[in-house]
Amino acid sequence: MRSLLNLDQIEPVSEIDVVVIGRGVAGLLTGLVYARQGKQVAILERDRPADDSQPRRGVPQSHHLHVLLDRGRHELDTLLPGIGEQLQSDGARLLDAAHDLDTRSWIGWSQRHRRSRRKLLSCTRGLFESTLRKRVLLEVERDGLNLTIHDESPVQGIVVAHGRVVGVRVAGSAASEAVDVRARLVVDASGRSSRTARWLHETGTGLLEYETIDPNLRYASCFLHAPALDHGTYIFPTPGIARGGVLLPVENGLAVVTVYGSHGEHPGISRASFREFQTSLASTQIAELTAHLSPLTRIRGFAATANRRLVPKTSRLPSGLLLLGDSLCAFNPVYGQGMTVAILQAQLIARLGERQADPLNDRFVRRTQTRLWHSTQPAWSLAVSGDRQHSPRRGIWNSIDRVNAWFVDRVRGHAASNSGVSELFWDVASLSLPRRALMTPQRMFQLMRRPQVGLAGPPPRPDGDKAQA
Ligand SMILES: Cc1cc2nc3c(=O)[nH]c(=O)nc-3n(C[C@H](O)[C@H](O)[C@H](O)COP(=O)(O)OP(=O)(O)OC[C@H]3O[C@@H](n4cnc5c(N)ncnc54)[C@H](O)[C@@H]3O)c2cc1C
Repeated sequence: MRSLLNLDQIEPVSEIDVVVIGRGVAGLLTGLVYARQGKQVAILERDRPADDSQPRRGVPQSHHLHVLLDRGRHELDTLLPGIGEQLQSDGARLLDAAHDLDTRSWIGWSQRHRRSRRKLLSCTRGLFESTLRKRVLLEVERDGLNLTIHDESPVQGIVVAHGRVVGVRVAGSAASEAVDVRARLVVDASGRSSRTARWLHETGTGLLEYETIDPNLRYASCFLHAPALDHGTYIFPTPGIARGGVLLPVENGLAVVTVYGSHGEHPGISRASFREFQTSLASTQIAELTAHLSPLTRIRGFAATANRRLVPKTSRLPSGLLLLGDSLCAFNPVYGQGMTVAILQAQLIARLGERQADPLNDRFVRRTQTRLWHSTQPAWSLAVSGDRQHSPRRGIWNSIDRVNAWFVDRVRGHAASNSGVSELFWDVASLSLPRRALMTPQRMFQLMRRPQVGLAGPPPRPDGDKAQA
């Protein structure tokens, strides 16, 4: 199997085709796509070899809830046929968004709707990543692709020549010096913690400017023992309560509970404050369900949740560099979009490269970067239109955002009692349909009316409440 080659096996002076920084979702899939295009690819990762399915240091978000939206699940299956089934046979839970998820919004609790076309794949980030990695390595082995993954290979900087990026500098082990790995293309898939902007600035090679919409939101999460939990619960923030929470089953009889708050209403990470926060949501349902479940991990917080994306107009990207995944555009995680967008970006690179003799030529890479940026737009506009109101720069919350936020609230309100609206809501939230799908004259007329008041409590479960172990 061509994995985990020692870095020494890359000749420092010779040039390979593509170096990818980071083996997160974006890095693994993009590396695979370039390898399928016949390129020699090396993925460099700063973390140790994966201890399968455990949270790892380089991906601190792995301590928190990670769902894969329906669009991401479908697109991932076209890149790696059968991987959805593989994830499920490894224990990932496929939840029906309209039927298996009890939701409470400003209007009250939603009714239980008929089964819908929209599913959420729920598992730990560790399981997701380890399944993905194994599968990518299987493809490499089976198809003889030229792709290697190098763990414990932190990239320390970029190598530049004549104003273009020509490689990366990788920290050596205690025994060896740093090595330069030269490549025709360097792909930055190093996530939110990307240091490319700093490296470009230090080498005077380019300028990256980011737009940030920060709702000042913090997460706190914990994994629990919940073998009988077969459904999820989502309590959205409501006017006056800028706090939300989610309880979802994942693999191996575990569940994850994540709570979040913006506007300075942040959850604490002591047992007592975590519990207190759960009871302060718009409903105490999650607190009641988790009261009977034993915690298996300590409570972890997370604060780097701002929406942040590259501003193409003011950024100057040198040749030889491509940004994607969270290093190009990261979203407030409550919308659960990041992995789906990373998958869509890998798909886009695959599609664009289909009829290109040389997908690494500078002009084509520049075009690809522009297309990647545009591909973030639907997810970005969904995430920021509501978040702008909580951003410290509230002045930027303009009348269009106000209408958007009102509209989203209306849709959520109607989704509680109307299965057609619920299905459309999940179509849009899953990035499967554009927001305009909700904006037909007939729907708009319906949405203008005040929604029916929601239920006072979660709808009865078809087979009784199985939350308790
Ligand atoms: C709290 C939280 C919850 C989230 N929940 C969801 C969710 O429910 N659904 C969803 O779709 N998305 C979610 N996301 C977003 C999701 O995690 C990312 O969008 C997605 O993983 C794509 O990220 P990426 O591959 O670009 O970066 P990452 O997943 O962050 O991976 C980056 C990789 O690069 C490595 N790296 C970084 N610097 C270097 C370096 N210098 N040298 C070598 N390697 C390096 C890191 O170790 C890591 O392996 C969440 C994010 C957060 C923060």
